[in-house]
Amino acid sequence: MSQPRFSLDMPAPSTSLWDWQTHAQCRPLDTDLFFPREGEGHGARIRRERTAKEICQSCPVRNQCQNHALSTGEPFGIWGGTTEKDRRHLRQPRITRCGEISRVSSPQTH
Ligand code: SF4
Repeated sequence: MSQPRFSLDMPAPSTSLWDWQTHAQCRPLDTDLFFPREGEGHGARIRRERTAKEICQSCPVRNQCQNHALSTGEPFGIWGGTTEKDRRHLRQPRITRCGEISRVSSPQTH
């Protein structure tokens, strides 16, 4: 019996990267609350986002959720208590007092 000429050394599947989602406060809720709807008016959007952010405030995996959205460049929806606009703002490099460039990655809401 011959040996395989090569082997793929693939990493084992890991749920640890996504396990935080099983603890999400929003898991049983309608996803429409966290994502913009087509034709949604400005006022309705503000109210929807405010409600979603309130849910995120007490979510036990808020940090993981926001870090995921920031690291993947999630373009839509409320993640970790942030809107798309909030995340664009958080990803902007900032100059510290020491003159170093930093990026804010801690959970914040606006
Ligand atoms: S932080 Fe908000 S969007 Fe993220 S998992 Fe929790 S409730 Fe859902």
